[in-house]
Amino acid sequence: MLQKTKQERYYKFSKYLKLRFGQRVHKVSVDAGFSCPNRDGEISKTGCIYCDNLGFSFNSRVPSCPLQLQIEKGIDYGRKRFKAGKFIVYFQAYTNTYAKPDVLKEKYDIIKKFKDIVGIAIGTRPDCIDEEILALINSYTAEYEVWMEYGLQSIHPQTLEFINRGHTFEQFLEAIKATREKKDIKICVHIILGLPGETKQMVLETAKTLALLKVDGVKIHPLHIIKGTKLEEMFKQGLYKPLKFEEYLDLTIEFLEYLWPETVIQRITADCPREFLVEPLWMLEKNKVLEKIENTLGQRNTFQGKHYRNK
Ligand code: SF4
Repeated sequence: MLQKTKQERYYKFSKYLKLRFGQRVHKVSVDAGFSCPNRDGEISKTGCIYCDNLGFSFNSRVPSCPLQLQIEKGIDYGRKRFKAGKFIVYFQAYTNTYAKPDVLKEKYDIIKKFKDIVGIAIGTRPDCIDEEILALINSYTAEYEVWMEYGLQSIHPQTLEFINRGHTFEQFLEAIKATREKKDIKICVHIILGLPGETKQMVLETAKTLALLKVDGVKIHPLHIIKGTKLEEMFKQGLYKPLKFEEYLDLTIEFLEYLWPETVIQRITADCPREFLVEPLWMLEKNKVLEKIENTLGQRNTFQGKHYRNK
């Protein structure tokens, strides 16, 4: 993993990409048409209590838009908006290893059609990989930067059960072990702050565990209530209260303090379009959230890894 410079308070993904590729790299999110076993009845029909995948992947949701066109549009947007010269395709929506290897290969192989694509990122559940799938994904590492993005959200069994994740922490550890055996695949873990019933201590235990695992990347975001979800029902019944911004700020900063300093922070808040979002509305002001996190880290003279312990 590349080193961050001293003056940075957390290791931003943009910085990592610049160091790795020497130029601006833009991540293009796509919806390759996969399903999720936690929604289609294989594990459950209801999904995670906060899941309406539309809200998580709205950037990639282009109805009836073929994969190739989604990538072309994403590249075009990245070039114009961010002056990016290279691109990573992020298979984001739902569970992007939930198919037979030949189907997966056909989908992933689309990156070979674009000369400026330098990487592939695959979002999935820890219980949706096996040796054959990992071997397929590993085959891309010879020419591409390859990230597996595992949704974990919390290390705590009671939380995973309550939010109906449909997999265990042990399955996550098995997935990490199997992925690590393919030495060049990088691992990013998705974590949600503000899950029902989670105390600050529980959140920090999750951070410490990820630090011990020395994962390559982490994505953090606040639990947000999307219209039409089970979480919205709980919210309306007074059974769930979303984090206030100040609470999220404190939790995020402490979370960062306990992480391994070399873990790349791929995301530190979330996007959700106003029309889908019930709460917390402060999340809509993404730039202000990012700025406040940055400023507060400075004011508190703290940084990612400040409390990192190797054991
Ligand atoms: S694993 Fe992802 S896609 Fe599947 S139900 Fe949970 S949030 Fe939705």
